[in-house]
Amino acid sequence: MPRKLIVTSALPYANASIHIGHLVEYLQTDIWVRYQKLAGNKCFYFCADDTHGTPIMIRAKAEGISEENLIKRMHGQHLKDLNDFQIEFDNYYTTHSEENRRLSERIYLAAKDAGSIVQKTIQQAYDEQEKMWLPDRFIKGACPRCKAENQYGDSCDACGAHYQPTEMINPVSAVSGQPPVLRESVHLFFRLSDYAERLKELFDAGYVQSSVKNKLDEWFGAGLRDWDISRDGPYFGFKIPGEDDKYFYVWLDAPIGYMASCKNYCDKNGLDFEQVWNSGEYEIYHFIGKDIMYFHALFWPALLMAAKLRVPNNLFVHGFLTVNGQKMSKSKGTFVMARTYLNHLDPQHLRYYYASKLSGDVGDIELNVEDFVNRVNSDLVGKLANLPSRSGPMLTGKLGGMLGRLDDKGKALVNEMAAAKAEIVDAYENLNYAAAIRRIASLADVCNKYVEDNKPSLLVKTDPEKARTVLTAVLNAGRILTIYLKPVLPAFAEKMERFLSIPPLSFADTATVLEHHKINNYERLIERIEKEKVEAMIEESKPADSPAQKPAEPQEPVAPECTIEDFAKVDLRVARVVKAGPVEGADKLLALELDLGGTAKNVFAGIAKAYKPEDLVGRLVVCVANLKPRKMRFGVSEGMVCAAGGGDGHVFLLAVDEGAQPGQRVH
Ligand SMILES: [Zn+2]
Repeated sequence: MPRKLIVTSALPYANASIHIGHLVEYLQTDIWVRYQKLAGNKCFYFCADDTHGTPIMIRAKAEGISEENLIKRMHGQHLKDLNDFQIEFDNYYTTHSEENRRLSERIYLAAKDAGSIVQKTIQQAYDEQEKMWLPDRFIKGACPRCKAENQYGDSCDACGAHYQPTEMINPVSAVSGQPPVLRESVHLFFRLSDYAERLKELFDAGYVQSSVKNKLDEWFGAGLRDWDISRDGPYFGFKIPGEDDKYFYVWLDAPIGYMASCKNYCDKNGLDFEQVWNSGEYEIYHFIGKDIMYFHALFWPALLMAAKLRVPNNLFVHGFLTVNGQKMSKSKGTFVMARTYLNHLDPQHLRYYYASKLSGDVGDIELNVEDFVNRVNSDLVGKLANLPSRSGPMLTGKLGGMLGRLDDKGKALVNEMAAAKAEIVDAYENLNYAAAIRRIASLADVCNKYVEDNKPSLLVKTDPEKARTVLTAVLNAGRILTIYLKPVLPAFAEKMERFLSIPPLSFADTATVLEHHKINNYERLIERIEKEKVEAMIEESKPADSPAQKPAEPQEPVAPECTIEDFAKVDLRVARVVKAGPVEGADKLLALELDLGGTAKNVFAGIAKAYKPEDLVGRLVVCVANLKPRKMRFGVSEGMVCAAGGGDGHVFLLAVDEGAQPGQRVH
C-alpha cells in the first residue's frame, strides 16, 4: 500500500527575501517530497507566506503602502525564488487568508472552552509618538551588563546577555527614536502546562530526533510557562473573537497556516479537508530550523490537543548554514540572496551540494566555497554526467543511436547498480542524503572503471557491435544512477529522460533495462562551475560602498540662508488627496484636489512620472498652504505639494503618518 503524507516547510516571513540559509530547509524538504513521490507514495508539500505582526506593519509604513500590497508583492517574489530553485509545492498559500482566520478562531475558541485561555495584566512598552505597542525587538538601547550601545530590547549581541527592555540604559523606540513609556494592558495567555503530560508522552513516542529531545527535557525541567497569544491594536493580524481591539499574536496563526494551505488545496481539488488532515489517513511531517523548535515542539501540538485536532507524526529539525566556517556575513559577501545566486549559478549545483551535506541531524551545514566548486565539478560533472556525455555521442554518431543487448558483464554492472536501491531508499527516507550521494558517487566510480576497462572508444573502430554492447551497459547503469539522483536533480533527470527517449523515471524503474531501444541526440546535462562566477556572486552580495566612499553626485547648491522668521512664513499643512487626474498638454503634471481639514485647494504637482493618479487618492501629503496662487497655462495653482526628487521623474512625496489630521501644521 502506498503511503499518504503531508509535508511542510516553515513559512517564510513576508518582510524579507529568501537567502541561501533559508534554502537549506526548502531543499531538504523538496528532496524528501520528491523521493516520496518517486517511491510511489502520495505526498503533498504545503507551505505559505507568514504575513502578520509588527515588522510587517512597520515595513509597509516605511514603504508608504498597505500591508496587503506588501505581502502580495513578497508572496510573488518568494514563490518565484523558490520555484527557480526547482522547489515544487503542491500549494503555496498565505496566512492572511479566510481559511487561516477561521481555523485560528476555531482553535482558539476550543482552547478557551477547554479552560486553557487565561487573562493577565502585563506591562508593555508603548511608543506615544507612533501610537503603537513595541515588541522587545523594536526597543534599542545600551546593554545593562556590558554597556554596548545600540542593542535590542531582549538581548545583547556584544555579550550575549538576556534581559527585559526595562533594564536597558536609555531605551528608545526603534520606530520613532523616542523613549518608550510603560503601559498596562490585559493580555490573553494559553496555559501550556495543561498539556504537559500529553506533550511528554508525545516526545517519548519519538516526536523529535533524540538530539533535540534533550533540549525539550531542559524546557520541561524549567517548567512550562503560559504563552502570551494576544496583541493590542494597531496590529496587522486577525482580531480575536469576543475581544475588543485584540489580535492573535503572529506566532499563533503562523503554524495554523500549514492547515490553511492544506484546506485551500483540498477545496480547490475536491478533497475533504477534515478527512485529509484529521483522520490519520495521512502522515504529517514538519521540517523546521532549530531556532523555532520551542513553537513547534510545545505550543503547536498543545494547541492542536486543545482543539482535539490531529497532532503531526514528527518534526524534522535541521541546523543553520555556515559559509567558510562562519555565520553568513554581509560584509564578506556570504549572505547570498536566492536571486543573487540564480543570477550567477545553476540551482542544481546548490541542490547537489546541500544534499551531499545533509545527514538528518541538527548540526549546522557548512558551505565551503572551494569544496562546493570542487565537489560539483569532480563528482557531479566529472563522474556522473561523464557517463552519458561520453557514451551518448558515440552511440548516436557511429552506431545509429540504437541500444543493443546486455552481455553477462553488462548485466553484472547493471545489477550492481540496482542492488544499491534498498540502501539508497533507506538513506533518503531517514533524511541522510549525504549517505545517498556518497553511495551514488561510489557507484559512478564503478561505472567509470567499467568504461576504462572495456574501452568503447577503441572498440567502436574495431568491433562496433561489441562497442554497442558495452555502451548499452553504460547507459543502463547511468539510467539507474539518474533514478537515484532524481530527488536531488530533477532537471538533470528530465534531460536524461529526453536523451534516452523514455517516460519519466521513478524508483520502480530500477528493475527494468533498456535494450534494442532508439535514443535521441545527447544534450549537455549540466555545466561545470566556473570559479569566476562564484566570485562574481560573492562580490554582488557585498554591501554597496558607503556614501562617503562614493564619488559625490552633483547636487543642487544650498540656497542662501533664511531666518527662522523667513521659514515661519511658509505654512506647511497636512493635506489629504481627494481627487487626482492628468493635465492635458502637460505630461509631467497631475491636477490634485486637496483637503486641508475643511479647506479645499487645487494644486498642480510635477509628479506625474512617479505617481499614478489612482495611487494618490486618499494619501496624506504635505502642502505649502500659503503659496501665492500662480496662474499657469492650465489653470490656477493654489499651493504646492512637497516632494524630493528631480528631473528624471524619480520623486518621493514627503511622507505623513496616517495618524496626522488634514489641516494640521507641519513645523
Ligand atoms: Zn552586553
